[in-house]
Order: sequence, then structure tokens, then C-alpha cells
Amino acid sequence: MQEEILTATNVTKRYANHTALKSVTLGVPKQSIYGLLGPNGAGKTTFIRIVNQILAMDEGTITWNGEKLSLDHIFRIGYLPEERGLYKKMKVGEQALYLSQLKGLSRSEANQRLKRWFERFDIMSWWNRKVEELSKGMQQKVQFVVTVIHEPELLIFDEPFSGFDPINVNILKEEILRLRGQGATIIFSTHNMASVEELCDHIALLNRSEKILEGRMADIKKTFRTNSYVIQYDGVKGSLRSILHPSYEVLEEVMEENLSTARIRLPQGTGPNDLIAHLLPHVTIHGFSELLPTMNEIFISKVNEYSALPR
Ligand code: ADP
Repeated sequence: MQEEILTATNVTKRYANHTALKSVTLGVPKQSIYGLLGPNGAGKTTFIRIVNQILAMDEGTITWNGEKLSLDHIFRIGYLPEERGLYKKMKVGEQALYLSQLKGLSRSEANQRLKRWFERFDIMSWWNRKVEELSKGMQQKVQFVVTVIHEPELLIFDEPFSGFDPINVNILKEEILRLRGQGATIIFSTHNMASVEELCDHIALLNRSEKILEGRMADIKKTFRTNSYVIQYDGVKGSLRSILHPSYEVLEEVMEENLSTARIRLPQGTGPNDLIAHLLPHVTIHGFSELLPTMNEIFISKVNEYSALPR
């Protein structure tokens, strides 16, 4: 098993009239990009706040590299909350320096690191401008820098891409991958399934205060596989339905002059070689791969499954 930087065991959190986490157990492997997913109100922010020790749990334990999570670990965590805010009247550079020093950096170290980051993000010209002169997206970029400036081992991003345009989303994604490459572990909470698909290697799905799914994304996808394949081919005019036995379900076909694509679900007990054997006498195959479910499909199917259960 991969070593875990953070291990939560039976974590329960109750608000006055709502239990926001019910005995949640999960483990975040070191150097993973770990997606904390779930519908609104599932308990994601509550969990993140507990890890950041803004909130206390009622029951359960959390360990950091095997030792009990304590205030000493706070400096080793970088947290970008969903509701962000910089002081509007302060200048960008001055504020970034101040916030970086709060994270334990000396002024000169903070200055050096900030300059490197500002150059990397090409935002040096903002240094002497007031925060209120920056757009929301620009402010978020500054907050991102301040979140990672002390090179924490664990980064927690709550909806990191909201408010960014596609170019800046890409820049941020690249930075997240680079930080992981340098040894950081990243937890991020989001509703943006495309970014989960692209970045995460592990996920946990929370629903109604409970964890209902967790694991390596590749393993999860395998458990939800449907024996379906995508094939690119040419040679047949018209539908593959006329060639295949009716037990092969053609989910979708896009027929083009030169290269057609079909998605096919195989009957139980058959495999890709059976499909290929049926098709080979009729078509030239240009591409063939398994059609794995998307995280979005898995998310919706799991959440619906649990919503159908009696409370
Ligand atoms: P998520 O981040 O998954 O959307 P949250 O952790 O923010 O979920 O909230 C989980 C549930 O706890 C929600 O039903 C929310 O209304 C409730 N909740 C959150 N904070 C408080 C609070 N301070 N007092 C009472 N209920 C709260």
C-alpha cells in the first residue's frame, strides 16, 4: 500500500442540527492528486476545515504521516479556500509579502520567492498596484501564489479553477502538476469533473455526510467498466448492426466517408477478441480501445444509487 500523508478514521462532525460527517474514513496517499468529490452539502468543506484545524471533529482521528494531526502541522499545509479575499486597499506586493511572512517565511526569503512566482506568472507589473485594481481572476492568481509560497507538503484547493478563464485554468493545472512533481500532495475539491479526469489519480466521493467511494481512479474505473469498446474503422457502408449479432449493442455510430467510429457493448461472456473476430471479415480496423466510464458517469450513478436508499 502507498504511504499516506493524511489518514482520517471514523471522523464525525455534528453541527447544532445536522451531522455533516458520519464516521468518514479515508486515506490520502503521499504525492497523490486526491479529488474530494460530492454534491453540494455532502461535507467536503467541513472535512477540509477539520484538516486545517479551523473546526474540531466530534469523533474520530486524523493522522499526519502516522502522528496525530496537531497545530504543528498547519505550516505544512497550504489552503486555498473557496471564498477568497485579499485586503482591497493594500498593494499586491506588500500584501503578498505580509501573507507570506504569516506562513513563517522571513521577509527577504518571502521577497525572493514571490518575485520568482510573479515572474513565472508574468504578473510582476501588478506588484505596486492596489488589489482593488485587479480583476477577480487576477486576485485569485495572487492568492494561489500565497497559498503555495511556503512550499507546503500538503496543498488543499477548494474549487481552484472557479473564476479563471481557460488559459489561466491551464496555467494553474500545470502548476499543480509541477508542485506534485516536486513532492507535494494535493487535495482538491471541485464540481468540475473534466479537471478531476485530467488531474486526479485518487478520489473520494462524499454523499450526505458519508464516504461512498474511494480509491485509485484507474481501479474505480475498472470496477465500473461495462465491457464496451470504441472502434474506428472503414470498409462498411451503413450500420455495424447489419454485421453484428443482435446481442452486441451498438451504443453509438458516427459514419464518415473515410473513418467511422462506433461504441459497442459486448454481451456477457465475450471479450474484445470476439468483437474483432466478427468485424474483421468486413472492416479495416484503425483504432480499438476500451470505453471506460467517465468520472461524471460514476459520480452520478453512485450518488443516485445512494439517494434511492431509505434514509
Ligand atoms: P460541501 O462542502 O460538500 O458542500 P459542507 O461541508 O459545506 O458541504 O456542508 C455540509 C452540511 O453541513 C450542509 O448541509 C451545510 O448546510 C451544513 N453546515 C455547514 N456549516 C455549518 C454550520 N456552521 N452550522 C450548521 N450547519 C452547517
